[in-house]
Amino acid sequence: MIKTVFLDIGGVILTNGWDRDQRRATIDEFRLDYDEFQDRHDFVAHDFETGRLTLPDYLTRTVFYRERPFHREDFVTAMFAQSRALPGAIDFLDELAATGLQLASLNNESREINEHRIQTFGLNGRLSLFLSSCYLGVKKPEAEIYELALRITQRRPEECVFVDDRPLNLECAADVGMDGVLFTGVADLRRQLSERGVVFPGAASGPQPAE
Ligand SMILES: [Mg+2]
Repeated sequence: MIKTVFLDIGGVILTNGWDRDQRRATIDEFRLDYDEFQDRHDFVAHDFETGRLTLPDYLTRTVFYRERPFHREDFVTAMFAQSRALPGAIDFLDELAATGLQLASLNNESREINEHRIQTFGLNGRLSLFLSSCYLGVKKPEAEIYELALRITQRRPEECVFVDDRPLNLECAADVGMDGVLFTGVADLRRQLSERGVVFPGAASGPQPAE
């Protein structure tokens, strides 16, 4: 009997927050040297995503370590603009929330980008818990983050399902006994959760429209 759904956010509900392609696009937009930026990013990314480095400090290390002909605020705006909702995802979250299941994020993200995304896309009213790397101090696919997720929710692994778009994250969750669904789209996720006994509102009242 599933009680909790752990959800990745980037690649499942929203676009990624600050992935390689998004960094490349933003760096190009501001006409910076990508290799130089990326080298610096690699050194601080883990601290940034596990809450040990703030966004202003991250930017000081990676972009504003020298004078730039643009403002920090404009760079941050461009970073945040990389986050967009994936098609149908927010509506699906509402459907999922209506099942009464506990919904918790299980996502890797730096704090400021995470909070921008939570607020901008109204995730706060839809998920009850944010198990984000920036708060927990550990990242997927480290075993500790899955163990923490179970301890914080006080669930047994068999009471949970974990949805992620990266097979490696699912493999490592499976090591602690957590069932996983590889996210390939909303329709497939609905089907996979239904197969695991999740009853969506309206699902029992008549035929569903073809997708
Ligand atoms: Mg993802």
